[in-house]
Amino acid sequence: MSYKNIEDNYKLVSENIQRAIQRSGRSSQAMEDCVRVMAVTKTIDTERIKSAVSCGITLLGESRVQEYLEKKADYPESTEVHFIGGLQSNKVRQIIDKVSLIQSIDSERLACETDRQARLNNLVMDVLIQVNIGGESTKNGVAPNELDFLIEKITALKGLRLRGLMAIPPMGDSVRYFEKMQKLFEKAKEYTPIDTLSMGMSGDYEEAVLFGATIVRLGTALFGNRITR
Ligand SMILES: *Cc1c(COP(=O)(O)O)cnc(C)c1O
Repeated sequence: MSYKNIEDNYKLVSENIQRAIQRSGRSSQAMEDCVRVMAVTKTIDTERIKSAVSCGITLLGESRVQEYLEKKADYPESTEVHFIGGLQSNKVRQIIDKVSLIQSIDSERLACETDRQARLNNLVMDVLIQVNIGGESTKNGVAPNELDFLIEKITALKGLRLRGLMAIPPMGDSVRYFEKMQKLFEKAKEYTPIDTLSMGMSGDYEEAVLFGATIVRLGTALFGNRITR
């Protein structure tokens, strides 16, 4: 897909988000202040990723460790990268100093290993807890009733800074789950200082914004259909 297409897609997405922000009645109405657009890069070649960055996208989402390590050298220096995919504890070491935030922390074990690697690298890693909000066996994430436990564990770890929550709701029924996520997020905010709610993908990002998303993660809506492999 050409630069022009990605630019047009980003423009359309931004307009849709802006409209959703207005409808959601958030206090700030400027998109830059309340919602960040993440470009999800899996299977996308680095030329197209660079095009997305030239359009003004400043945040990339990586879901595969090996793919990221192979492509990373070609990414523009200025871009911020979050890890958003399933992460095995033994892979944390490979990305700890190459991303600014990990969105997919979903167990005490993974949290502890990320904390350990962060401290070995003299850094504090920003993290989100991934919540399996639809209770789907095929998806990662903590069950909603285990969330408080994991929040407590993470806030005690010196190498981690908890920033918020992430979710991938069931396909086709996301609105109901966005609402549940918003409630969990607001509740957690009452006792821990968090500011990030990552939810909404190409098919449902406007609804996610209505329910308070601060990061939407977009692949198809920016780059067109992926060639699966
Ligand atoms: C692939 C992926 C996305 C983007 O999916 P699209 O439907 O193409 O927008 C978002 N979040 C995660 C975790 C993904 O793996």
